[in-house]
Amino acid sequence: MTDRNSPQQKSFQTALIHNEYKAPAGFGAFPTAIHHASTVLFKDVAALRSRNWQDKSSYTYGLHGTPTTFTLEARLAAIEGGEHCLLAPSGLAAIAMVDLALLKAGDDVLIPDNVYNPNRELGRWLSEDFGITARFYDPLIGEGIAAMIQPNTRLIWTEAPGSVTMEVPDIPAICRAARERSTPERKVVVAIDNTWSAGIAFKAFDHGVDIVMQALTKYQSGGSDVLMGAVITRDLDLKHKIELAHMRLGLGVGADDAYLVMRGLPTMQLRFSAHDAGARTVANWLKARPEVSAVLHPALPDCPGHETWQRDFTGAGGLFSVIFDGRYSEAMTDRFIDSLTLFKIGYSWGGANSLCVPYRVAAMRRNWKHEGQLLRFNIGLEDPQDLIADIEQALAVLHQAG
Ligand SMILES: *Cc1c(COP(=O)(O)O)cnc(C)c1O
Repeated sequence: MTDRNSPQQKSFQTALIHNEYKAPAGFGAFPTAIHHASTVLFKDVAALRSRNWQDKSSYTYGLHGTPTTFTLEARLAAIEGGEHCLLAPSGLAAIAMVDLALLKAGDDVLIPDNVYNPNRELGRWLSEDFGITARFYDPLIGEGIAAMIQPNTRLIWTEAPGSVTMEVPDIPAICRAARERSTPERKVVVAIDNTWSAGIAFKAFDHGVDIVMQALTKYQSGGSDVLMGAVITRDLDLKHKIELAHMRLGLGVGADDAYLVMRGLPTMQLRFSAHDAGARTVANWLKARPEVSAVLHPALPDCPGHETWQRDFTGAGGLFSVIFDGRYSEAMTDRFIDSLTLFKIGYSWGGANSLCVPYRVAAMRRNWKHEGQLLRFNIGLEDPQDLIADIEQALAVLHQAG
């Protein structure tokens, strides 16, 4: 049985697949097209045999890139002032990609004590199961990091500022120490988690960093709806190492998600500035409140590393933390958070909605001296005066006997 009408005609089933129609050329629009592909077609066998997956002037397989993902990579590299970019399915996957690209058994990695906690957790795992040592350093160590660099130290992670306790590290000093302790055979690579500044307020490569990691989940997307990460470098050798890890781990990203991130980029700087202005308004208001003992916002003097922020950064985003006076118990500050109405309770940041989360910092890091509860605020794009009114009414609840 066949539904062929003549030998020259394909069956209906084959024709369902092999349709000859091509849309006319000459279509123009602002968005980059969303290319979904696992299989990528070669025009003949010679093309298949000669093509190299590492050559980004052509395509080999969906996992290695499509016009959609190559375009996003190029735009992210340009924002950061880098040359090469690789995408990963989350910010954390991007961090893991850097570790697995650069570290092997016997190597040592230095990680700041205030780092985004899953990065610390990954370091701990590498130490326990992979024969790598991960050591944690005071984020304000500056040039003192030189004394911690061992002959087997391959990688120094930095985060500017640490996204919970907000210390601003001296990145140029750390990079100088790493360069001085590098040899031609053995480079000490400095990587930065630059998510807080979105690549807008801190130009990491200009300060000596080798690798920039971004959680695109935050400001690049801006929609609280996508998970994605990126790793960017200027160094071709590092790019080769990272793309090998990317290939070996199979870290593909979805075309629709890549599109959503790209959709956020034209408005990113405008959103970032609005988050910045709102956050400073709210942070300054909180600073004047008797319930608050410290406002950990890099643009305010309470924040450790504030002078470094003034020297090296051109702005701030929507993220900062406050420490409540020690007389307020965790139960009381929990009640404060529960009483907020505009601020929602949840992780992540960089979206239009304001968020507030408590952290038990003493359990996350060494040498934490503050007694009071730490609450982290993400200031969204609401009117800052409405946010302040919300905090004010929740502070009133904090004082009620409970
Ligand atoms: C959110 C975040 C990450 C991880 O990004 P995900 O996409 O959630 O995995 C890493 N670093 C920092 C500083 C972040 O804020």
